[in-house]
Amino acid sequence: MKTHKTVYLLGSGFSKAAGAPLGRELMEKIFDQHDKPNINKMKHWIYKHIFPTKKDWISNCEIDELISRLTLHCYYNNQCQHTSEILNVIIKELANSVNCQLDKADFAIYRNFIERLKPRDTVITLNYDTILERSGIKGKTRNLLKLHGSISWSWCSRCKYYTFHSSWQTGMICPKCHYPLLPLIVPPQITIAEHYSPLIPFYNYAINAIKKSDRIVIIGYSLPATDYDIKMLLLLGIKQNPRKIPIYIINGPHCDIKNYEILRRHLIKIKMTAEDWLKLQ
Ligand SMILES: [Zn+2]
Repeated sequence: MKTHKTVYLLGSGFSKAAGAPLGRELMEKIFDQHDKPNINKMKHWIYKHIFPTKKDWISNCEIDELISRLTLHCYYNNQCQHTSEILNVIIKELANSVNCQLDKADFAIYRNFIERLKPRDTVITLNYDTILERSGIKGKTRNLLKLHGSISWSWCSRCKYYTFHSSWQTGMICPKCHYPLLPLIVPPQITIAEHYSPLIPFYNYAINAIKKSDRIVIIGYSLPATDYDIKMLLLLGIKQNPRKIPIYIINGPHCDIKNYEILRRHLIKIKMTAEDWLKLQ
């Protein structure tokens, strides 16, 4: 029997099923630490320079938006050292916060999904958490592509050393120049980040996997209009795929199929949330 080659594309809705904090919740977790004076100082600076017209930015902004804005501020301000330091503190706080939350999370809901993965399947994820790793994906498929980085990968902003092997933890030091390591997380428009280059091969692998796939399953991802990188990646892969492959979309009963029409393939909306779909696997 022919086994299908499936490409899964996972967005934040996939991680939500673990009860992991998302977007706005994460913002509150990071910025409500009143006992940390540097966080309070940062809040004032961010309000003044990044969200000058948005007093309630903490409760009305996703963490990805904050990371994108800070990265852009840094990029267009000659790699401003101060912005870069703030960005690094936030990324470290983010990694710690997600790790703490995942230490308490239950991954049972992901087990069947992982068990059913075939070695030829590819999992492309936009989530930088470690839910798939903690659920035992290792050995099920070698093709796990974390396009926005991972809280478990690290890099050194001084000598540009990168590692995908040892999980990032507070206090980790670069083995080459002894500078503190940072979690390797990039904003959705990855090319504005100074540390995006090691992730580029994953984009190429992703396009190649889509090109050879029999079907695509998009889980918990709404393909927002501003995600140009992911749109282009999907379009390039689909265009090079000689077959009219179906694309399944699992993003809640109310998800707007129009967002995905740019993909110009046979779209099949499965009217359930990622969590409900995972429970049925
Ligand atoms: Zn270094």
